[in-house]
Amino acid sequence: MRDATQVLVAGGGPAGSVAAGLLARAGAQVTLLEAATFPRYHIGESILPSCLPVLDLLGAREKVERHGFVRKGGAWFEWGPENWELNFDHIRGTERHSYQVVRSEFDQLLLEHAREQGVEVVEGTSVRRVEFEGDRAVAASWARGDRIGRIAFDHLVDATGRAGVLATRHLRNRTYNEAFRNVATWGYWRGAKPLDRGPEGAIAVCSVPDGWFWGIPLHDGTYSVGLVTSKVRFAERRAAAGGDLRAMYATAVAECARIADLVEPAELVGDLKTEQDYSYACDRFAGPGWLMAGDSACFLDPLLSTGVHLATFSGLLAAASIGSVSRGELAEDEAARFYDRAYRQSYERLLVLVSLLYGSYEREAHLFQADKLTRRERRMLELYESFLQVVSGVEDLADARESGLDAIAARLASGADVGGHNRAMDAMPDSERTAVGGLYLAYEPRLGLRRVATTSVPTP
Ligand SMILES: Cc1cc2nc3c(=O)[nH]c(=O)nc-3n(C[C@H](O)[C@H](O)[C@H](O)COP(=O)(O)OP(=O)(O)OC[C@H]3O[C@@H](n4cnc5c(N)ncnc54)[C@H](O)[C@@H]3O)c2cc1C
Repeated sequence: MRDATQVLVAGGGPAGSVAAGLLARAGAQVTLLEAATFPRYHIGESILPSCLPVLDLLGAREKVERHGFVRKGGAWFEWGPENWELNFDHIRGTERHSYQVVRSEFDQLLLEHAREQGVEVVEGTSVRRVEFEGDRAVAASWARGDRIGRIAFDHLVDATGRAGVLATRHLRNRTYNEAFRNVATWGYWRGAKPLDRGPEGAIAVCSVPDGWFWGIPLHDGTYSVGLVTSKVRFAERRAAAGGDLRAMYATAVAECARIADLVEPAELVGDLKTEQDYSYACDRFAGPGWLMAGDSACFLDPLLSTGVHLATFSGLLAAASIGSVSRGELAEDEAARFYDRAYRQSYERLLVLVSLLYGSYEREAHLFQADKLTRRERRMLELYESFLQVVSGVEDLADARESGLDAIAARLASGADVGGHNRAMDAMPDSERTAVGGLYLAYEPRLGLRRVATTSVPTP
């Protein structure tokens, strides 16, 4: 392994593989250290259409399309008393489908692809600590079995996921969102019935009185079924089941008519898994010599299946920022500001949508007898449709505003409902119109950041 590299990427999930692969394609020397040996298990199976344009840039789309993953046409929601479908066919733009992926296979495919782009990928090697000179990150120590070593770098992309080397071992700068102290419990069923409603290959999202289930069909013949509930309700449910996780899960499945029907002929295979989905964000996503991509920077409750979208989006932003800085096109602090702002804006707008969806649910939980959603909640559903258009990667902001985003923009501006966040909805920052802080992504001649042209105003 090299002892010095231009770019070190720590972690080979979607954020790391996308950042590394794009940088290598743009001519950078990249080393990626991944703690696990792939294929390795990971949760996060339902992905959004917005990932596809990033896979295009990476040159990996065809491989993903050929792999045989279940083609996802959208989502089927049974939320409180309301049922509705989200059909990707109905969204504007070119990306009208996505995939339900077995993550061990999807992540391996992307990591192998990064290797083929020229990235030195070293698996089974964990980044232990980052060395700083002043406040600049300059090197990392690694461990591989009994061996330890050091690698110097010009730029570090921390893509170590929820483990978050920089945030948890050095900067200690994660703030957890109290509103989402949730726990997920999930397992895989063999022989489940196909969902007989909603778009083809849809994820089913179905509420129960104190939480919700996901149901995701996978191409290996299993169905991923997970319960998300608050930490408090998880503890209560588990206690009521005598501490038996499997019994608790079985009781919850039986309470959800749609999911119970899907798995009625099926067998639960393997052990159940649990994870606490605390949502968090770091106070800074970038600094001298470093960037955090994907879950290492921020994590959002999985209600809208946004994790892989945020990982691939931030991987793209990271590659463009580092590319421009290393070619001397931009000062590092300017690129870091762009990166922080563009990624945070994306995260926060999704956080707001998730909050709204939970908010409507909580009200419904108290008013379950109500057979109609309030006007505000109805508007919220429209917002969700708008959200899908935004994450298709091709949304036009003006159109989105017409379809309901004005409401959220106004609320965000007034700080109401969302704890003072002040962000309007935005689109991919890849044009002058959608620039962030005067910079935007440019794909030609190489991936990087471009400054908005300043039009000279003729002096009278
Ligand atoms: C219950 C649950 C359900 C979810 N459902 C969905 C969903 O349906 N759709 C969706 O899009 N997202 C979902 N997510 C979110 C999704 O799993 C993540 O957002 C996504 O995997 C983030 O990608 P990443 O590349 O940032 O991190 P990861 O995919 O976690 O990759 C990080 C990599 O870093 C490696 N690593 C860790 N520490 C080190 C180290 N010290 N040195 C070197 N390597 C290291 C790890 O081994 C790992 O391979 C869900 C999450 C949870 C918890």
